[in-house]
Amino acid sequence: MSTPHTYFLQFIRAFFHRPRKLVTKSDTIEPDEESVLNSCSSPHPSCLFCGVSKERGFSVVWENEVFAVFTDIDPASEHHLQLVPKHHIGKLSPLRDMVEIAHNILDGLAVPPHLRRIGFHIPPYISVPHLHMHIQALPYRSIFRKLKYPVVAGWSGREKGVSWFVDAEQAVRILEKGSQVRILPC
Ligand SMILES: [Zn+2]
Ligand SMILES: [Zn+2]
Repeated sequence: MSTPHTYFLQFIRAFFHRPRKLVTKSDTIEPDEESVLNSCSSPHPSCLFCGVSKERGFSVVWENEVFAVFTDIDPASEHHLQLVPKHHIGKLSPLRDMVEIAHNILDGLAVPPHLRRIGFHIPPYISVPHLHMHIQALPYRSIFRKLKYPVVAGWSGREKGVSWFVDAEQAVRILEKGSQVRILPC
């Protein structure tokens, strides 16, 4: 029987089995700029994205034991899906697994690589305090939709510039530099 607790332990193991560099001062991430949102660590019965399922009205297109992918209720682009863990998983994010699932979904939709956008909103630009990855096929439906998901490259050795959205590959590289994933209070 799998519980959120056992998922949490699985992710801890997966995380520490990955090669990690030592954190140096220059690798330290400013929370406002480069933190990746993660779910709150305690159970949250009223959370919108806890226990995403067809029964709860989500249009789920793919799921396994841990994750669900569903169509965004107000798509910003031709294909706009969200990938969420089914439970809150603490501060450790299985990002690589999520990126792989996202690309598999986009492969299935025949979206060419240069039209893929995969990433996360950054606090305080968070609509639901539960880790959710946006999976999109460009172009956006309007300039206003586009402004919600800006990917900005970093400068002078920093992975990411200032914006309220982080590309999943940027997030993976930030984690590989040894930075911690931040938890928002809920
Ligand atoms: Zn939740
Ligand atoms: Zn979001």
